[in-house]
Amino acid sequence: MYKTLYVVIPIYNEEAIIDSSIQRIVSVLNEADIPFHLVLVDDGSKDGTWEQLSKIASIREDTTALRLSRNFGKESAIFAGLGACEGACAAVMDCDMQHPAEILVEMYRLWEKCGYYIVEAVKSSRGKESFLSRVYANLFYYILRLLSGIDLKNSSDFRLMDQKVVDVVRLMPERQTFFRGMSSWVGYKRTRVLFDVVSREAGTTKWSKLKLCKFAFSSITSFSSIPLQLVTLIGIIFLIFGLGLAVQTLYMKFSGIATTGFTTVILLLLIVGSVLMLGLGIIGMYIAKIYEEVKQRPRYIVCETANYEGNKEKI
Ligand code: UDP
Ligand code: MG
Repeated sequence: MYKTLYVVIPIYNEEAIIDSSIQRIVSVLNEADIPFHLVLVDDGSKDGTWEQLSKIASIREDTTALRLSRNFGKESAIFAGLGACEGACAAVMDCDMQHPAEILVEMYRLWEKCGYYIVEAVKSSRGKESFLSRVYANLFYYILRLLSGIDLKNSSDFRLMDQKVVDVVRLMPERQTFFRGMSSWVGYKRTRVLFDVVSREAGTTKWSKLKLCKFAFSSITSFSSIPLQLVTLIGIIFLIFGLGLAVQTLYMKFSGIATTGFTTVILLLLIVGSVLMLGLGIIGMYIAKIYEEVKQRPRYIVCETANYEGNKEKI
């Protein structure tokens, strides 16, 4: 519909916060007189989230709720939501109110008035988090920028895109998605707005350290093949080093200087061994990625949808 903003919200085990969060978004958008449609995606929650979402969708005409068949992760939930967008633009935001709805209005106006295709919300401060999380995050963004040239420092999944961009991103064929990177890679006229991350209203973060680590590796390997070239580079360096050592050993042998050479051998074994392991590990990560991609499995499975008047269809 003309100028309708679709708001995609991935939701996982958030029963404590869902009602107040949606109420807030709805009242902010109503106040700003923005035509909208909510797409609430339940990412396989184990609590009462789906019951709440289907109830909201059954009483609100402007809401669609989707239920994924299991927990596919936030990335897949976002893509499931984008799949249901058919307005003029779409925004993605969290449901824990860490992405303030007021900023959404500012983003919408920039799209509407200034013709930007993508409006990214960038964290002006990262909110309350541990020192270690901050170091992790900064290291991740640094490596990603170094290897892929994409600067995502302080970026978030909170962004508004024109429907044209949504269509392009949706059609990108990879199974293992990195929404932030993909929506940056496409280009288009874009701008940024700043926002402050506030603390979660209720519940806890759904990202364990392990999940974050996997996410970091997966996004870096999705956007750069430099680590693979690094393996070759290290190989070349070791070859030069090895040749030098060979020349030196031969020289010593022929000039009759006896050396035990034990330390060198042990060191070389250790270094070459670990570098080989590292190289194999990196190659393994890419092969795993290729394996996942060639399987061509769907990114997500929607098992239920809920619409106005309680039209619940089983798929
Ligand atoms: N989320 C999701 N699937 C998951 C993990 C999280 O849909 O497997 C949703 C979650 O409900 C929330 C958003 O993604 O709306 C951001 O999650 P969270 O607040 O836990 O992340 P953080 O803000 O700590 O980065
Ligand atoms: Mg959060």
